[in-house]
Amino acid sequence: MLHKTYLAQTINRLTNGQQRGDEYLEQLQAEMTGAVLVQGDPEYDVARRGWNLNVDQHPAVIALVQSAADVVAAVRYARQTGLGIAIQSTGHGVARAADDALLIVTAGLRNVQIDEGMATARVEAGAVWGDVLAKAQRAGLAPLLGSSPNVGVMGYTLGGGMGWLARKYGMALDSVLAFEVVTPDGRLVRASARENSELFWGLRGGGGALGIVTAMEINLYPVTTVYGGNLFYPASLAKAVLTRYRDWVQTLPDAMTTSVVLMNYPPIPAIPEPLRGQTMVIVRGCYAGDVAEGQRLIDEWRTWRAPQIDAFGVMPFSEVASISMDPVDPMPSQHTGAWLSGLSDDAIAALVRGGVPQDGPLPLVFIELRHAGGAIARHDSGAFSHRDGVFNLFINGVTPTPEARAAFTQHTDAIKAHLQPVMTGGVYLNFLAGEEVQQRTQAGFSAEAYARLIALKAALDPTNRLAYSYDIRPA
Ligand SMILES: Cc1cc2nc3c(=O)[nH]c(=O)nc-3n(C[C@H](O)[C@H](O)[C@H](O)COP(=O)(O)OP(=O)(O)OC[C@H]3O[C@@H](n4cnc5c(N)ncnc54)[C@H](O)[C@@H]3O)c2cc1C
Repeated sequence: MLHKTYLAQTINRLTNGQQRGDEYLEQLQAEMTGAVLVQGDPEYDVARRGWNLNVDQHPAVIALVQSAADVVAAVRYARQTGLGIAIQSTGHGVARAADDALLIVTAGLRNVQIDEGMATARVEAGAVWGDVLAKAQRAGLAPLLGSSPNVGVMGYTLGGGMGWLARKYGMALDSVLAFEVVTPDGRLVRASARENSELFWGLRGGGGALGIVTAMEINLYPVTTVYGGNLFYPASLAKAVLTRYRDWVQTLPDAMTTSVVLMNYPPIPAIPEPLRGQTMVIVRGCYAGDVAEGQRLIDEWRTWRAPQIDAFGVMPFSEVASISMDPVDPMPSQHTGAWLSGLSDDAIAALVRGGVPQDGPLPLVFIELRHAGGAIARHDSGAFSHRDGVFNLFINGVTPTPEARAAFTQHTDAIKAHLQPVMTGGVYLNFLAGEEVQQRTQAGFSAEAYARLIALKAALDPTNRLAYSYDIRPA
């Protein structure tokens, strides 16, 4: 009974030696439809793993919830035993390892219902965006997913959610109508503009620090065909492309959401020729409107310089994942970012120096600048802040070892030091990973929003039981 011993030790430590963990654990298992796992159970090692393999967490208990009632039971158990609560859907965005905590895994809560007439969806907490996209597209509708359909709907939305329709319709959290949420004291409530409106405000940006969302209702939009894709230019044109991109985005209508990427394709068989092992500068985007107008905007690039590879064209929105071609399989991923107020010539030079290899490989895979503005800037929902940022910087690396992680951090810190004059000081928390999420939580919000969040946190979660998400400490 290795797992019982481990559990008893953990709970004894966390509850000052009170011998009551096993009794409550049995009660939890009896109440839950889903499984409860502790170390030693055969499924424990699979269940504790997330998409990001850099996270190696050892929860005291894992609750594989299958209903809102299971979540209520799990939260009661955490309160009885004194355990902290961590929440995981896919593990794409783990802020802090759930060591010695109760890990609530929502992957079994995956139901998606579309209301075609109302153009809305009710989405359970463990769904991934691909689930919603497939069902919504059958009804001629689109959700505000991001670059990867494998990312979970909930972590993505609670942190913001910037996808290929963002300039037209806003961040994903701007389209939330209501949340069903279990509060840290174990009540299942609804949060919307009319019910528990302060919690509704806080969840939209403050996310997993305030409650365990079991489902949400969102607006969908009539998008079925877009003009989207990538123009690949050689790395030798990196400076020229970034400079042209800076000027071009100022002319764009809100229907066009774009980014520019300095991409170092790894020399591995999974990457097709002629990209394998190459560095490219990519203009990437999605025009949600009259495709002829989308083509006209992209033709401006084709006329400027013919791209080495032209993969921009008319496409069904159901294939939006082909724009970013994000990795699907779990991997050790590290990322960081910052909001930028614009791009100076010096900033462009720093990005090219940091993102295009000069003498040997770099400790990063890509630097992406996503163009914001449009509906992102016009909306004002929730605690989410920094809507005036012009570019959202996202830097990604594959970091399987501590040395690789250290090299990534050193290199990206140096890039950010050079970008200081164009950095607003704000960060987009969804584009940070690991420790940096907690270290920089405050920079994710305006001073006013952060003050309001810590007051809300004090009312909802005074002992900070939900301490494994953003670092929002009770006021
Ligand atoms: C390959 C890749 C592509 C990405 N593309 C984009 C993109 O295009 N745009 C963008 O904005 N972001 C993007 N992201 C960032 C992504 O939005 C975050 O990593 C997000 O946190 C992932 O959510 P998840 O639910 O899948 O992850 P998880 O790791 O399961 O959850 C992340 C956090 O969200 C909170 N959370 C999850 N479920 C709940 C719940 N039910 N109740 C309360 N809190 C909860 C918890 O705090 C949890 O720690 C991408 C990330 C990756 C790795």
